Amino acid sequence: MRFRWQWTACLIVGLFPWPERPVAAGEVPVRASTQRARLTIPAGLPRYEIDASLDLSRKLVTARERVRFTNRSAVATRELVFHVYPRYKMKEEDRPALSKTLEVLRLSPEESMDAEGRRINIDRVQVGGQSAPFTFDPDVDTVMIVPLARPVGPGEMIVAEIDFNVELPDIWGRWGHHHGLTYLLNWYPVLAHHDDQGWERTPYVPWHQPWHQEAGHYTVRFDSPEGQVIASSGRITDRKPGAPGRQVSTIVASPARDFALVCSDRFEVREQQVGPTLLRVVSLPEHKANAEKVLEYAAEVLPLYERWFGPYFDDEFEIAPSFFGWNGNECSGLVLLDDRVMRVPSSGERYIDHLVTHETCHQWFWNVVGTDGYAETFMDEGLVNAFTAIRLDEKYGRNAPLINWGKGLTWLPTIGREDLRLSGYYGWRARGNNGPVIQDIKSMGNLNALFSLAYDRGGKVIEMIKNRLGDERFFAFFRKIYHEYAFETFHYADLKRELTAFDPSFDWNQFLDGWLVEHKDTDWAVEHVKVDAASDNNTGVRSVTVELKQSGEMIEPTVVLCRCGPDEIRVPIWPDRGSYDIPGAHVAHVPKEDRWVVTVQAPSAPSQVIVDPDHALLDSVPDNNRWKPEIAWRFTPFMTPLDESSQFQSYDRTSIVAGPFIDQYARGGFKIGAQRVNRWQATVWAGAEPALREAIFGGQFALVQFPWPHWSLGVFYEEGLYNFYNDKRHSGGRAFLRYRFLETSSFLIDDQGFAELYFGTGNEFWQGDDGRPVNGKLNAVGGRYRLSTLFPYWDPVQGFEIDATAEYGDRSFGSAATYVRIAGEFGVVRPIPTWSGEPSKSRIAVRVYGGYGGPDTVPLFRLGGGRRLRALDLSQDIGSSVWLSTFEWRFPIWRDIDQDLVDHILSVRNLLGAVFYDVGQSYLRGEWNPVVHGVGVGIRVDAILFAFLERASLRIDIAQPVGVGPGRSPVLWFGLNQVF
Ligand SMILES: [Zn+2]
Repeated sequence: MRFRWQWTACLIVGLFPWPERPVAAGEVPVRASTQRARLTIPAGLPRYEIDASLDLSRKLVTARERVRFTNRSAVATRELVFHVYPRYKMKEEDRPALSKTLEVLRLSPEESMDAEGRRINIDRVQVGGQSAPFTFDPDVDTVMIVPLARPVGPGEMIVAEIDFNVELPDIWGRWGHHHGLTYLLNWYPVLAHHDDQGWERTPYVPWHQPWHQEAGHYTVRFDSPEGQVIASSGRITDRKPGAPGRQVSTIVASPARDFALVCSDRFEVREQQVGPTLLRVVSLPEHKANAEKVLEYAAEVLPLYERWFGPYFDDEFEIAPSFFGWNGNECSGLVLLDDRVMRVPSSGERYIDHLVTHETCHQWFWNVVGTDGYAETFMDEGLVNAFTAIRLDEKYGRNAPLINWGKGLTWLPTIGREDLRLSGYYGWRARGNNGPVIQDIKSMGNLNALFSLAYDRGGKVIEMIKNRLGDERFFAFFRKIYHEYAFETFHYADLKRELTAFDPSFDWNQFLDGWLVEHKDTDWAVEHVKVDAASDNNTGVRSVTVELKQSGEMIEPTVVLCRCGPDEIRVPIWPDRGSYDIPGAHVAHVPKEDRWVVTVQAPSAPSQVIVDPDHALLDSVPDNNRWKPEIAWRFTPFMTPLDESSQFQSYDRTSIVAGPFIDQYARGGFKIGAQRVNRWQATVWAGAEPALREAIFGGQFALVQFPWPHWSLGVFYEEGLYNFYNDKRHSGGRAFLRYRFLETSSFLIDDQGFAELYFGTGNEFWQGDDGRPVNGKLNAVGGRYRLSTLFPYWDPVQGFEIDATAEYGDRSFGSAATYVRIAGEFGVVRPIPTWSGEPSKSRIAVRVYGGYGGPDTVPLFRLGGGRRLRALDLSQDIGSSVWLSTFEWRFPIWRDIDQDLVDHILSVRNLLGAVFYDVGQSYLRGEWNPVVHGVGVGIRVDAILFAFLERASLRIDIAQPVGVGPGRSPVLWFGLNQVF
């Protein structure tokens, strides 16, 4: 009956042409749901009726939206304020930060940066059937204001009608069309948040979810070409033929936080009934294996969250792929997973589980319990981050590996889920960052700060609430919040008030503000452990005294664990209880100090003593939580750059990895690396350097984030053991002090911005000469400055690069020669504008390079090389000074190849070509050598490793010298990424 009524209502609504329709409330069909009745829906939520038509040939959505706003506040309003997010146009000053964010996501600006913007066009606004003026906020271009002829008082309502269209660019993101998939997120004019303070004109921040809006009742009639399979918020209640070759789907989402839709004629559907909820996973055929996993994971967490918090808000839940780049995106009743996630190799299935667990949880916290995503991101991301961690700890064990490499690849490095979660936070802190969790995302400034604060730190704060309340009361609290704030907005002030009301025995305001606003910390440490001789020789029982110190401003309850053979003794530390006894242990508080002495009767001598063994706390110095240091050891048959990257290490202990290696400079051999992330890093290697045809031995040690954040201080030494080609062996080392101001996110390339001072000793020049030995020993001081805004690093679309070095060697500090060597490089890359003024997909790269040195009898530079004049090899044209210039045209040969190899581990994205001209000249002993011209062609294979982990271009160049007489053959170079 219910369904027939709905169907009839839809039909009636559809029969009336829009403009003539009388303004009336209550006739929008509201779909009843068996579950929804269990959540209270506040009265007066806005109602949206949208008639949208998708024109795939014009890549355009034309729509008419009818909005009914009911003033739920205590003050009258004289305007309606809407967010029109697709109107966003990127400001030039935002380009660097956005480029950097995309680079971290391994997306090129060409793929995902909409330089044009202004994709929504508002044709007409009507209020109460009358044409109404509208303007856009001069400060926030995604805010549309419709002044009203008469004020709308508390409890009153008004209806507006907006005619608009949205262009669908072929760009990864929230609104667009790519590879046959249409995506419409945050695409329609939506009422801004309105309360007693008036309208909230939250700006659009493209790198996160600044949404702050009321839940609403949505009825959407979507006219699309036949054969389009839709995944959306709500549920399709009716589908009927439209114009020839078209279909009209009626979708009702009532209520929902927003209305999102993706569609494609390539979608496949998998369904499973999970309790009262129909779970639908929609995917592209190439996602098959992972789509099945997604269905399985979602079917597990839906009932879990219902048990934890309360019923899912609707009777249908969908998960679908799209192209946006940031892995997972929550919409109401719909979760989107990035295409690259859906193609993660089978070894990454736990990462998919992690994403599904996280995004599905947003249906409870974000969709039903709304938040201010702009000013209080923590209020959903912190909660969801914690709930996801609790769930995955239960399922896989704490800090279980996130990547389970498949057969034959188990030697590759993996990372514990908790290590990944916290290494980002501790790394961010080690770089000198700090700040309140409760601040708006524009003030946070970038994604790294937002993740570290709202997700990582925020998530641990939620876990510390659990630590204090215990499991049962913790979930009881959030179950209460879920029911009481259903379809409303849950603010930070509400959290403080509700938690205090729920548990008046503790000062929750101080706790929450301390952690989330005043950025205070806790730091427990095991200071001293004393093990007595066995008091009873038969049983081996002895007294173990553990001295604990807490140095942070936040004193959190914790646990001390004594590991004695197979036994684990846990002693709870309750800081507000003074001294106390528990069975088998005594806890004594040292008066007026943050110190505790724990005496445990242990069955044998303990092998380890740990405070906060379960990492329940966000301890600011996790290293000092153990009595005996622990080391994470690993031996691998092949050491990759991942093994040494900080992202793949434990965040709270030293890690050592050893094994054979080949690195990005084509050196190979055996290597041992040890590091304590963000503190120090040491490496020793022995092997061969084929480019020099030399056997080598070397080592490096660096103090990281020392003496200040962003700085490092280190030494490097390498000795040539044997040369297979001639008797020249290089040997030497240097000490350096580096300041990084633009760190790379890549596992393979050097930092993009740094300044460095060094002292070098040995038989080579220290900068830009790839360690080629000279006759005699050089001792020199030098400096280098490098800044590259060439984004993305694997194939720059635009930007510039400056690299300058100066080196001075002097006999007075032991050098065989007194010399000076100065070099500078400047390169630019620009997209070529087409006739329409838009940049095309091909680009021009130009650079100049100059090296000046003295005395002029010494060959201080070489002109040839894979990153210099490519028509000359390394042995030709050396000089005391050189100049060089490059003009290169880079163009696509085959874009969007999208070929996955080796179980999706390697994905070939694009094939690019290059035509170049290098010209240069060298100077020696008072004479200029002839100018050398070189022309060449090259191929670059733009490939992604493991879905989104790393991206690089493999470069092959072949160059021919011209005008230097007969008999010079072309030179072939292999390399990583573009030359500049
Ligand atoms: Zn989230």
